Amino acid sequence: MPTVTRCTLRFYDGLNDFLPPETRGRTFAFELYGTPSVKDTIEAAGVPHTEVDFILVDGHPVDFTALLQGGERIAVYPMFTQLDIAGFEQLLPAPPDIYRFVLDVHLGRLARYLRLAGFDTLYSNTYTDPEIVEIAQHDERIVLTRDTGLLKHGAVTRGYWLRNTAPRTQLTEVVERFELHPHFTPFSRCMMCNGLVRATDLAEVRNRIPPRVAQHFDRFSVCNDCNRVYWPGSHYAKLAALLKEYAAGIDTPHTELS
Ligand SMILES: [Zn+2]
Repeated sequence: MPTVTRCTLRFYDGLNDFLPPETRGRTFAFELYGTPSVKDTIEAAGVPHTEVDFILVDGHPVDFTALLQGGERIAVYPMFTQLDIAGFEQLLPAPPDIYRFVLDVHLGRLARYLRLAGFDTLYSNTYTDPEIVEIAQHDERIVLTRDTGLLKHGAVTRGYWLRNTAPRTQLTEVVERFELHPHFTPFSRCMMCNGLVRATDLAEVRNRIPPRVAQHFDRFSVCNDCNRVYWPGSHYAKLAALLKEYAAGIDTPHTELS
């Protein structure tokens, strides 16, 4: 029979979102077989490694590979905690130079919002988990998902578990978690396919838009990938206002979605 390793766990702040109510905000006993790593233990308790920035075992900082012998007190912290950990090695990777995302299935509306804000966002409702992991690894993309199992995959280094199901609230979560406000480039991407859009004039698009639109607008955008035409129709003001809620003072170019 493998030996049972007993320890106590305490998760802080937003990491409690992953726990059943009875263990939130308090120290609780936990058991695993053998000599598990801290990472295995934390993930067995329900918290993906992509949410963990700092771990103390019996008061000492450790990384994910530390092995448990039994009897340890483990304290686990997310990013943005009040704890002063200056000078200690943090476990989450440094922010990427460019924020790119790959989204799990059923997150199509969030994908469109992120593209609207200008973020390179891959999404398909046919992606399998292995495909998402592969894309994230290959392109150094941040995985956004409602599935904690996907974030426990060892090859996923940057990810975030969406707490909410409403797309607008999800956008707020992602913007706050990754401090995206300064990185908005509104209306620079096609909401439908993620391609970059370029400005153009009426002459190029006249044959591809309704006559009514040709009469009322003279500036347009075209997607470099799918050729979709955008113009500053009634939808534009609504979308621009939405973006300004997240990044006040951002400059929303004139040309936009209809
Ligand atoms: Zn497109």
